[in-house]
Amino acid sequence: MDDQAAHAALDHAADHAAEIRAAGLKVTVPRLAVLSGLAESPHATADQLFETVSRQLPGTSLQAVYGVLGAFNTAGLVRRIEPAGSAALFERRVGDNHHHIVCTNCHSVRDVECVTGEAPCLTPSDTAGFIVQTAEVTFWGLCPDCQAGTTGIH
Ligand SMILES: [Zn+2]
Ligand SMILES: [Zn+2]
Repeated sequence: MDDQAAHAALDHAADHAAEIRAAGLKVTVPRLAVLSGLAESPHATADQLFETVSRQLPGTSLQAVYGVLGAFNTAGLVRRIEPAGSAALFERRVGDNHHHIVCTNCHSVRDVECVTGEAPCLTPSDTAGFIVQTAEVTFWGLCPDCQAGTTGIH
């Protein structure tokens, strides 16, 4: 790591500590590691995060990662999405009511922008008297890699 990269990494750690504190949580090393793992892979499963975190903190358990994610979710620091047939995915982008598109072949996930500030982004024909606050839409399709056949159909 050169000097500049080392400084950038330290800056991120400081940002992450501030975010954790702002959410009303205590800053711990596993929490910092999970948060930086999520910065690297924006839609990650607990298993994927466990792998990333283990590289930094070899003693970490999957249970500890689940514990951190649960606390982050409750504190509003992460959003949990669960496309049908997939493990729960965690992401840092919270509170903007964006949607997701999932590849039916390789299960890669991308964000789908919505009209920001205009939640719920969709107008139901009948709300049965409910006041609608958010909408959660999962689009399914083939990602560009799979269309090009570079990932192989499984
Ligand atoms: Zn794909
Ligand atoms: Zn997302």
